[in-house]
Parts: sequence; C-alpha cells; structure tokens
Amino acid sequence: FLIQFKKKKKGKILDKNSTPKKINYQRDKEMTSMSEEALKEEAKSELKLLSLEHVCFNKDWVLRLNPRSQIDHFICLICKQIANSPMEISCPQHEQMDELLIVGEDCLNQYLKDHNNSCPIAPHANCKYSRNRALQRLVGDLTVMCPRQCMQGGQQTGNETEGESETSGIIRCNFQGKLKELNDHLSNDCSLKAIDCWFKPFGCNQRCSKHNLNDHLISSMKFHFDMVNQLFQSMQQTIQSQRGESNQLKSEINQLRLQMKKMSKMQIQTNSTN
Ligand SMILES: [Zn+2]
Ligand SMILES: [Zn+2]
Ligand SMILES: [Zn+2]
Ligand SMILES: [Zn+2]
Repeated sequence: FLIQFKKKKKGKILDKNSTPKKINYQRDKEMTSMSEEALKEEAKSELKLLSLEHVCFNKDWVLRLNPRSQIDHFICLICKQIANSPMEISCPQHEQMDELLIVGEDCLNQYLKDHNNSCPIAPHANCKYSRNRALQRLVGDLTVMCPRQCMQGGQQTGNETEGESETSGIIRCNFQGKLKELNDHLSNDCSLKAIDCWFKPFGCNQRCSKHNLNDHLISSMKFHFDMVNQLFQSMQQTIQSQRGESNQLKSEINQLRLQMKKMSKMQIQTNSTN
C-alpha cells in the first residue's frame, strides 16, 4: 500500500508537469491552486490512512463496531491500541505473567530501536519475541467501518448496506468489512476515494470523490469547454501548418519533375544532333 501511495504521488507530480502549458486562463490558475489545496488535504488524510498499514490500529475506530471485551486480547502493550501484526513477547524473565504479552510489530521494532534493544515489558537485554499468527488472523477478521468515513466524523447509521447512500446530499461510505479487506476497499470501491476529473488529459487537475465529481463537471463546464476548445484550435493550427508544408513539398516536387523533363528533352536533342 505504501508503494502504491508513493507511485500515486509520483504520478501526480508528473501529471502536473505534463499539463499543457499553453492553457493560461485566469480560471485555470484559480482551479490549479484550488486543486493543489485539495491535493494537499488529500495527501494529509491519505497519510493518516496509510499509517494503518504500519502502526497499530486506532482502538476507538475498531470499538465502533466491536465490543470492548472482544478486543481486550489484541491490545498492544506499547501503544495501547489494537496490535498490527501482533508479536508475542516470550522472554523467560516474564514466565510468571499470566497474560499474553502482545505488541504490534512496528511498535516493537521502534521500541527496540529507541531503547537499545531493551525489552518493552521490563528493562533487560535479549528480548525474545515471535509472530502470533493466530492472533493476527483474529485481528484481520475484526469488522471495521471505512476509516475515510470515520475521519469525516460520520456516525454509522443503522443502515447495514454496503456502498454509498446520498441522503441529505452528503456523500458517505457505508463500508463495513473485515480489517484485512480494508486496503482493497480503500483502493477500489470506496465511495469517498478521490478520483481524477474526466478532463485531466486536457489539463484539469481537480480530484474529488465520485459524488463531488458530478458537481465539478457541472460547475466547471465552461472551464472544461474552453480547455478542450483551446486544444482543438492548437491542433487545427498544427494541421494547417503541416498542410502548408506538404503543399510546399508538392510544388517543389512538381518543379523538380519539370526540370527533369526539360533535361531529358535537351538530352534527346543533343543525341539527335550527334
Ligand atoms: Zn502498538
Ligand atoms: Zn522481556
Ligand atoms: Zn470507504
Ligand atoms: Zn475538471
């Protein structure tokens, strides 16, 4: 997911540079700054989502759809959130402890790095730990709601259907699914996922949710039309100048033909006089 995100960012930068430079309306400038702001906003929120991949999962977010009793065993002892890639600490020093000693993989690595490889349970060297696959499976099976919806401050309604509902005009994502299926949802069918404006090939850098795209397409109709028109005109100019070049070539060829004819006539004449 991180790699995907990086690619996406790179793509964005490239696309910005490849935007036709000829188009230079005031509106265009306005739109660009607007969409840049949107891009920044989006990058910020995507970054938050991205952190889902590495650090432990936000407990409050998981608690929205799961009872506290069900998540008690998944708590990372370092950050007190839901352990991502749970690791079990099994140093002989803690053998008397009754509970499973669970930490998220990223939290553990960070802790060991920051504390000179000292164990996070009690300060000692040679911390022993291993991945707990059974727990990982259980965490992956937790039901969660769309984090984009969560960040919008949306409360989940009783509505259990998946997909988008557009009541009250605010777009929402009603996704509820397993934690392990979340990335697939976020990068594919999430209705809050930002998509490019249809007129991106003509230079519009607007990115918005599927629902807002309709509004953008309607409100920016003139802007889009001007962009397409500008491109059309510059293409027509190219065609015309190429037509001119080809006409000139044609006349040059004709002149050459005439000269060839003249020369061959002259040759026949000189041959016959000999
Ligand atoms: Zn953690
Ligand atoms: Zn230990
Ligand atoms: Zn979603
Ligand atoms: Zn647009």
